[in-house]
Amino acid sequence: MNALDIRSLKKTYTNVTKALKGVNLQVAQGDFFGLLGPNGAGKSTIIGIISSLIRKTSGSVKIFNTDIDKNFALAKSFIGITPQELNFNQFETVEDIVLNQAGFYGMRKKLARERLDELLEKLRLEDRRKEVSRNLSGGMKRRLMIARALVHKPKLLLLDEPTAGVDIEIRHSIWSFLKELNSLGTTIILTTHNLEEVEILCRNIGIINSGHLIEDTSLRTLLSQLDSESYILDLEDEVTDAQIADFPELKAIDKHQIEININKKEKSLNSLFVKLSDKGIGIRSMRNKNNRLEKLFLDLISTS
Ligand code: ADP
Repeated sequence: MNALDIRSLKKTYTNVTKALKGVNLQVAQGDFFGLLGPNGAGKSTIIGIISSLIRKTSGSVKIFNTDIDKNFALAKSFIGITPQELNFNQFETVEDIVLNQAGFYGMRKKLARERLDELLEKLRLEDRRKEVSRNLSGGMKRRLMIARALVHKPKLLLLDEPTAGVDIEIRHSIWSFLKELNSLGTTIILTTHNLEEVEILCRNIGIINSGHLIEDTSLRTLLSQLDSESYILDLEDEVTDAQIADFPELKAIDKHQIEININKKEKSLNSLFVKLSDKGIGIRSMRNKNNRLEKLFLDLISTS
């Protein structure tokens, strides 16, 4: 079954800006789907229409086979959402924000409290439950948004830039929480500018540009289109120009670091490393120069 089925979706704002120009998109139940695109592409408009914060101009949207025009309440009950902007009452406490949301979905008090405890523990907010939300750090506010979105156990979670402005440690803890949630069956749709986040989390990807879906594929297929990759090698000893003169794919950054650009179809990293070793060049560590998706993403946008 599809968690989301969008057909011919159009949105024109105030009869001028055509934000969506006929988008078709299906996301299977259980998927972790990344919706990508440059600023102004239409991502938030799609998320807004699915969650009924924005009215579509035409087209259809079904959530788990329920058309939002036919049974709005049921369709909405399947969804949890964290919008891009923090939109809770700054003067309410953490627990009230989550409990009020539970009340909004008609959950019984006892069940809501159990769910609150579980979510605050998982999202590492339990010691802040009595705090008014404006006193929380940026990372805590993001986690509170996720707790609030999940209180009624939605089958589909929509995350609009969930880790924007969050430091590295918290970002990693949010990622592992989301991975676990997805592995337990929740379908997740994510919009993000962070391509590392996409590579770590998403199984399938849609790329939207100027109101059109220009790519709808798996992460694996997308990455397989990458023929060449750049790495930075940290060396054990100082390297001389003479030592690397025979390697056109190498460029010295300084005496202890070299950059390699390798075409994976033509050469293996392994054979290159053997040759380097023959020249007496030892490698201490290695990392990707950029996020692998970055170049691919920019190429797709520029040719669409
Ligand atoms: P994204 O989330 O990909 O950055 P949006 O969905 O926010 O893109 O915006 C898509 C287009 O719709 C942009 O051109 C944006 O300026 C326009 N837009 C978004 N919201 C409104 C609005 N409330 N009124 C008028 N135009 C809007």
